[in-house]
Amino acid sequence: MKLQGKTAIVTGAASGIGRAIAEQLAREGAAVAIADLNLDAARAVADAIESGGGRAMALAMDVTDERAVDEGTDEVARTLGGVDILVSNAGIQIINPIEAYSYADWKRMQAIHLDGAFLTTRAALRHMYRDNRGGTVIYMGSVHSHEASPLKCAYVAAKHALLGLARVVAKEGGPRNVRSHVICPGFVRTPLVDRQIPEQARELGISEEEVVRRVMLGGTVDGVFTTMDDVAQTALFLCAYPSAALTGQSFVVSHGWYMQ
Ligand code: NAD
Repeated sequence: MKLQGKTAIVTGAASGIGRAIAEQLAREGAAVAIADLNLDAARAVADAIESGGGRAMALAMDVTDERAVDEGTDEVARTLGGVDILVSNAGIQIINPIEAYSYADWKRMQAIHLDGAFLTTRAALRHMYRDNRGGTVIYMGSVHSHEASPLKCAYVAAKHALLGLARVVAKEGGPRNVRSHVICPGFVRTPLVDRQIPEQARELGISEEEVVRRVMLGGTVDGVFTTMDDVAQTALFLCAYPSAALTGQSFVVSHGWYMQ
């Protein structure tokens, strides 16, 4: 058990990558808060962790809502006994070419990916800094933190920005025993990606099979999707890492799609 006695908040943990990370951290002994917009689905994940012998709580949290984030984080600290790990993972995707991208969609994307990362970080750091407890902050970036793709202006801009936020957290948090990283997955088959396949086929005028083969996997070394487990194992490694020898880094998990 690599995370015995630790507590974690994972946002967007009712589905996909966030769920896989929450389950992995819980298997290693962490008490995990499943924070998500979708409270019913968050409860189901927390129940599954608890029935497997782990410790979890569900939390309704819209990461764009300052009050919900501050109060929710305080509630986690009260209930689970502090905050050692934040995985800022909640996210959505809206694709469109720039000339057709609505300002409202642009702002919604920045609000969830970037404002959400800032708000959850600020709330978690206040607990991590208490009594020099320290901690680990992980942002869910993407290969799109380093590479661009058509149709994804808001996503690519927000995911690039997370690198900057993580580096500031690493510098400010270093003296107080807080480390920070960005995990940058390639395409992972989650509901977020499954929804994109027909949308991209329509926008690009190609078949769904071509979207998968060319757009999603064309840049990989082996034509294979990254898995939720690949990302969860990376998160576990970073949470369990014992020192600030690793901090302020981005870890690309993408079957060679992007090599840094
Ligand atoms: P998903 O759709 O399976 O899960 C996203 C979760 O976030 C959902 O449970 C949803 O309810 C929650 N959420 C959305 N808006 C929220 C908000 N305002 N507040 C709180 N929760 C909210 O998606 P996923 O593929 O697991 O994506 C998770 C993260 O991984 C995202 O940040 C995404 O950009 C990133 N990512 C995904 C892929 C991929 O290929 N799936 C690749 C790289 C990065």
